[in-house]
Amino acid sequence: MKKVLSVAVLFGVAVMISCQSDEGIVSKSDVSQEAMDKIYALGFTNTGAMRVDGGYLVEGDIFLSEADLNKTPSRSLLRIAEEEQYHTTNLVTGTPRTITVSISNKLPSSYVAALDEALARYNAEGLNLTFQRVSSGANISITKASKGAQYLASAGFPTSTGNPYSSIKVNSAAIGSQPQSTVATILAHELGHCIGFRHTDYMSRQYSCGGSPVNEGASTVGAIHIPGTPTGPDSGSWMLACIGSGQDRPFNNNDKTALDYLY
Ligand SMILES: [Zn+2]
Repeated sequence: MKKVLSVAVLFGVAVMISCQSDEGIVSKSDVSQEAMDKIYALGFTNTGAMRVDGGYLVEGDIFLSEADLNKTPSRSLLRIAEEEQYHTTNLVTGTPRTITVSISNKLPSSYVAALDEALARYNAEGLNLTFQRVSSGANISITKASKGAQYLASAGFPTSTGNPYSSIKVNSAAIGSQPQSTVATILAHELGHCIGFRHTDYMSRQYSCGGSPVNEGASTVGAIHIPGTPTGPDSGSWMLACIGSGQDRPFNNNDKTALDYLY
């Protein structure tokens, strides 16, 4: 069987690495029905939602705090067509701007080159955001996920004050020795969340993940269609929820349109 990693959490959940049919993942038992309802109202699938330190992990790699869960869902956001490029309501402001990124030395040293490749992919687009790797004091810190973490990587969305989400956690024990281009794709995906990209296939995540359709809804963080990007499935987007083992997803033309539109 082809391995499917839920990046979607890009590789959202370690279990997904081993078998696609295990997508259901987590026992919902540790997430209350009230929390499940709030997650759905915020526009995310609650399938596979799990409790993590300080909040919840949804769609495999997106962190929502308790405070996030208690935001009032917006009812005015548009949701148009399916499998397009979507971004959240909050974006990084104050552009042009340099975003610094650090990576922990507790992660495999090979990930540094993968991060540099991810940052180079963004910088090649000539955006109003320039990414720069630094050793400390970064806007976005990439750290090793705690032992036993049930996801491959996690991130969140920009703050209401226009700053990128500040933390990416990487479960190197679960990712293992994927090719540099695959790790670069994962890191570029998580950075995409930090600057406001939702999953490309958020309306029907089975497109990249397999399994049953899951409508991730709209939310206070928003799912607003980016003009000029397609209404049909886009098999190559770096923001698809799931990715196959060994796969590489450099920005395709639709991704570039979306990046250029926002930044
Ligand atoms: Zn994701």
